[in-house]
Amino acid sequence: MSVVPPGGTPGPVLRVHDFLAESYANGPGKRAVIWMQGCPLACPRCWNPGLQDPGGGRAVGIESLVGRLLALPDIEGLTISGGEPTEQAAPLALLLETVRRQTDLSVLLFSGRTKARIKAMAGGSRLLAATDVLVDGPYDHRLANADGAWPASANQNILFLTDRYTIFDFADLPGLEIFIRPDGTIVTTGILGVGSIACL
Ligand code: SF4
Repeated sequence: MSVVPPGGTPGPVLRVHDFLAESYANGPGKRAVIWMQGCPLACPRCWNPGLQDPGGGRAVGIESLVGRLLALPDIEGLTISGGEPTEQAAPLALLLETVRRQTDLSVLLFSGRTKARIKAMAGGSRLLAATDVLVDGPYDHRLANADGAWPASANQNILFLTDRYTIFDFADLPGLEIFIRPDGTIVTTGILGVGSIACL
């Protein structure tokens, strides 16, 4: 998919549900978060059901997303959540590769798919190569970590794909964050939260 800016050439886009400029509950340090729109995995008691529809959210140009990240000088990293981010593996890899080239932000990726499954997908190896930490596997409510510890359910894995972080960086993360945006929109996020409420 691509969009054509007025008088410009088409650029790659991602189907995105929401963007949060500041979070402390989606990985180590202060992070921006992008929630990808669309997920076919249908986990029972999905904690982000509003993100399953692949036609929901908005198409946002990768250049626009990179610009928003570059405007946040004091964040440590970027977290990609969903929805199922690997449904858009190739354009998402393009975003993360651009982030790698232009910033020193760390990248944390959530996926309901396993690392092996992602690697076998078109664009999957590129996606993994641009990721520092992958939290993989489907959310299973029967194995949910009720105390807010990572990962959200015990069947998931926190996989360190680079040496940027260790498990100790995930020991004391807040389980829940609630933000009230300037327009009054409430965003709840974190392992104990229910995802993002507002749309981009
Ligand atoms: S992977 Fe996430 S968004 Fe998709 S069905 Fe499971 S809990 Fe819901």
